This record gives sequence, C-alpha cells and structure tokens, in this order.
Amino acid sequence: MTPPGTVVVVGSSVAGVRCVQALRSEGFSGRVVLVGEETQLPYDKPPLSKQFLAGFWDTARVALLTAERAAELDVELRLGSAAERLDLAGRQVHLADGSTLAWDAAVLATGAAARPSPWHTDSGVHVVRTLADAQALRADLDTDAPVVVVGGGFIGAEVAATAHSLGRDVTVVDPLAAPIGRVVGAEVGQYFTALHQRHGVQTRFGVGVESVSGSSGDLVVVLTDGTELPAGTVIVGIGATPNDGWLADSGLLVENGVTCDEHCRAVDAPDVYAVGDLARWLHPSHDEHVRVEHWTNAVDSAVVAAHNIVHPDDLRAHAPVEYVWSDQYDWKIQIVGRPATATRHELIGSWEGTSARGAAVYTDVSGQLRGAVTVNWPKALVLCRRLLMAGTTFGEAMTQLNALPAAVAR
Ligand SMILES: Cc1cc2nc3c(=O)[nH]c(=O)nc-3n(C[C@H](O)[C@H](O)[C@H](O)COP(=O)(O)OP(=O)(O)OC[C@H]3O[C@@H](n4cnc5c(N)ncnc54)[C@H](O)[C@@H]3O)c2cc1C
Repeated sequence: MTPPGTVVVVGSSVAGVRCVQALRSEGFSGRVVLVGEETQLPYDKPPLSKQFLAGFWDTARVALLTAERAAELDVELRLGSAAERLDLAGRQVHLADGSTLAWDAAVLATGAAARPSPWHTDSGVHVVRTLADAQALRADLDTDAPVVVVGGGFIGAEVAATAHSLGRDVTVVDPLAAPIGRVVGAEVGQYFTALHQRHGVQTRFGVGVESVSGSSGDLVVVLTDGTELPAGTVIVGIGATPNDGWLADSGLLVENGVTCDEHCRAVDAPDVYAVGDLARWLHPSHDEHVRVEHWTNAVDSAVVAAHNIVHPDDLRAHAPVEYVWSDQYDWKIQIVGRPATATRHELIGSWEGTSARGAAVYTDVSGQLRGAVTVNWPKALVLCRRLLMAGTTFGEAMTQLNALPAAVAR
C-alpha cells in the first residue's frame, strides 16, 4: 500500500489495539478502522485469570483503549459486529451487520478462542477467555462449593491459584503426569505440581475426565479411574484455537492460523497482515512457521505489521525471543526462549518452599542457550533474554547467572 489510504484492523483486543496505536505513532495519516466482534471497549486478557478474577481489579483497570483515546487517535471503532468474510480481490471486509469496509491494507487480529468444554451441562461449567467468561466465573466462585479445574496448563493453574485465594477447595485434573512439563520439561514441571500441593490444592494428574454432570452448585466430575469429584463450579482450561474460521473461503493460506512471511504479511495476499494469536508466521531465527499465544508476541507483531504498512520500503522482520509470564500463588513465573525445544537443562537457585527464587536454563546438543524459566527472579530473566538475543552459549549463560547475587545467596 502507498500510504495514506484505509487500514482496517479486524479484532479489537491487544494485537488490534496496539496495531492501530502503532499506525498513528508510525505517522500513518489515513483512515484507520478497528473492527471488533464484542460490544465492549477493548480490554486486556491476562488479568482475567488473575487480578480481575480475584476481584482486585475492575473493568476500568483492564481497559486497553477508551472511546476518548480512540477519538484522539482518529480511530473509528466498529464494535459489536464480527467480520464474516474477507474479499481479497475486492479489498473489502464484510461484517455481520451487513455492511462492508473497503481497505487498502487489512490487519487480521482475531486471536483465538477457548477450546469449548466437551462436557455439556445447563450451568456451572466455564471457560476463561473473554471478559464475560471471567465475570460469569467470578459470580459462581462466590459460592462456598468446591472447584474442579480441568487442565493444568497455565490458564488452569492460574485459575486454580485464584480460586484458592478466594477460599475455595480446588482440585486440578489433567491427563498428563506434569501438565506444565510440556513447556518446561518433566523435572521442572514437577515443581509446578508441588506448588499447587504446597498451597493445599489437590492435583489429579495422569488421569482424565470421563464426564461432568449436574448444574451450577451441584456438579459431579467423574474421572477415568472412576473417582467422583463433587463441585460447585468446573473450569475447563484445555487450550485455545485460532479464530480463523471466518477466513476459510478467503483464499488465504489458513492452517492453524493465517500463514505469514517473516514480515507478518499473509502469504500470497498483498497488503494483508496477520498478528497476535491468529498469525502463524515464518520466524527468521527458527526457520519455521510458528504460532504463539503470548501477550508480548501480540504486541510486538502488531507493531511490526504497522511499521511495514507505513514503511513498505523498510520492511522489518518479526523475530522475537519468545516471552511469557504467569502468576500462580506466590510465584512469578517467566519463560523466555524455547525451553520445549531444548535437550537438557540445569537448575540454579531454590525451587521449593515459600522463598523459591530460581532459574532453569536450557540448552541443545550444540551447546547453545535455548531458553530459561525463572521463578521470582526477574533479574535472571532479563539477563537470559539478553543472552538469548546475543546468541550466547549455555556455558557462558550459566557463568553469568551464577554470578548474580540471588543465585549465590541460595
Ligand atoms: C485468561 C487469560 C490469561 C492470560 N494470561 C497471560 C499471561 O499471563 N501472559 C501472557 O503472555 N499471555 C497471557 N494470555 C494470552 C494473551 O492474552 C493472548 O496472547 C493475547 O490476548 C492475544 O491477543 P490477540 O489480540 O492476538 O487475540 P485475542 O486476545 O484473542 O483477541 C482477539 C479479538 O478479536 C475478536 N474477534 C474474533 N473473531 C472476530 C471476528 N470475526 N470479527 C471481529 N472480531 C473478532 C475477539 O472478540 C477478540 O476481541 C492470557 C490469555 C487469557 C485468555
């Protein structure tokens, strides 16, 4: 696109909002339209399983963009109307309300949806993806009854920690022996299991769910080993799938998200970009297409896409060092790089008890640093991120980490 013109950004969460903001900060003076399926003003998702669910933060605190700020940025909000079809040849987006929006560049930021519960009851079974989900769950958590969380990944673990903080009896169920082990490896995963147990949250890992029946306040979760768990509320946190169904007949290459090049441009579709949880882009350092469901990736990819729209002669690649955080009980967990692709790791510091402060550092067969998981140790995280960006060896990373004061102290 030769700016100015019209940029239509579809999806009004963090990737979409950061993209419209970045278009303006990059100097784009054309028309900017932000389309969102939900009627609410854009809000942020990470607090929905943490501070918002716990009742510490209200809706104002999770806002990403106010109507006033949108007006200041001269961004047109088209909320409450889903995009239903992308017409590449005609350069239009068709919305559910029957209207169409013409674009010179389109940014697709429709994110992902919670994988729905396979068990259907009248009430009491929740997923947590949207503000409405979190509000409904929060209301159910006000009752005294026990809570069963199905899925011990990050969202499940956070919701379990929050429900526990509200005084609920919580059981987390997952067919995997160490659910977070998928990301961090089995040994480190055991520390996350122990974290639940230390707080008195029951874990039933290595066993699946057969059925959920009843209704809110009076549910029964039957496990595959025959155990019956009574529950007032059940939360199903079994992953997310990209919101790419509306693009199925668009002509875009859609395979577990929208396939993009390293510049966040959809393959074979000039002037169409995909960002955030929806995008499966060619990561230049990994030399493969990846789709990442992390907040920081949504922000960074949105900024790259905006830059590339405004400066087509100075294209930037989206080549982040992956980063995600999670807050569970008294642990601030931060993960950088790609621990899941490593062959070996070493532990530093303390991984147990109330004063845990440690790092797991990951390497591959070539001796390169691949990633790190830190607990309550932001300095180590920052260092590892810097070392990963610099392409440091595992040995050098260990030397530098061991020299950090916190590691010596424990
Ligand atoms: C409860 C929760 C806690 C999280 N905690 C963390 C955390 O601690 N750390 C971390 O790194 N990440 C966390 N994440 C992940 C992070 O929030 C996501 O990576 C991020 O929200 C992705 O942003 P996005 O804008 O790409 O997609 P989404 O947030 O999924 O937003 C997509 C938007 O597009 C809209 N949309 C969908 N389809 C259409 C359509 N057809 N037309 C118009 N609009 C549409 C949706 O309504 C939504 O508003 C968490 C996610 C959740 C759900």
